[in-house]
Amino acid sequence: MSQPLIEFQGVEKRFGDTVIFKDFNFSVEDGEIVSIIGPSGSGKSTLLRILMTLEGIEGGVVNVAGEPLWHKRTANGLVPADNKHLHRMRHHLGMVFQHFNLFPHMSVKRNITEAPMRVQGKTKAEAEAIADELLELVGMSDKADMYPNELSGGQKQRVGIARALAMQPSILLLDEITSALDPELVDEVLDVIRNLAKKHSFTMLLVTHEMYFAREISDRVCFFDQGAIVEEGEPEQIFTAPKETRTQAFLNAYM
Ligand code: ADP
Ligand code: MG
Repeated sequence: MSQPLIEFQGVEKRFGDTVIFKDFNFSVEDGEIVSIIGPSGSGKSTLLRILMTLEGIEGGVVNVAGEPLWHKRTANGLVPADNKHLHRMRHHLGMVFQHFNLFPHMSVKRNITEAPMRVQGKTKAEAEAIADELLELVGMSDKADMYPNELSGGQKQRVGIARALAMQPSILLLDEITSALDPELVDEVLDVIRNLAKKHSFTMLLVTHEMYFAREISDRVCFFDQGAIVEEGEPEQIFTAPKETRTQAFLNAYM
């Protein structure tokens, strides 16, 4: 069996005295689509933020594509990661946030070309060619010159997806990308993800409250509570025959 693309081994994460993860183990295979469901405050966003190196860890190891995220392999063993290493490791991942986090003073197109130009050193023409393709993919070609405040929430989020893809990551992290949207705008965003899942072999790790979507899109669903995976399995099993009482209670409240 090939090694997982994402691997948490005995990870510990604290905020001050508050323990979020203790001896946390979790992995995602190459090409797998994994949904994380669970109550708020259980550590779902923290998990994704650690992968994006937006949060550090207090113990254990996180491997991405077989390499430790927070450490660098040297002839003398593992040493703490330097910026260059973190920079390189981050390129494996793209993240879409609940509250869009678009740059308000930049046009839609510029939001997408910014990182490829500044971080990857792409020329303006190269970055714009990528942006044009991605805007087409998310159905936003006609809005390229608009600014975020001129867009609906669904449109902003489709730009958010295009921006994450512009760095050509092999893993896409989606953190409740539809929970700030009016209900009628949810499907236009989920359709983009459905399309990506079908036509492109992305590895996706998504946190979602859209249970029907998790059921439809995932290879595996993990029910997460208090910093631990309480239960995981194929969507059919989790949604129709959850084994754990806590999973049952959570799903009963949602469905
Ligand atoms: P979820 O995404 O499942 O709702 P989070 O990962 O956002 O949960 O948060 C898990 C816990 O960590 C919560 O109790 C939250 O209050 C706490 N937490 C998250 N970020 C911070 C932070 N930067 N400082 C202190 N506590 C935090
Ligand atoms: Mg969260």
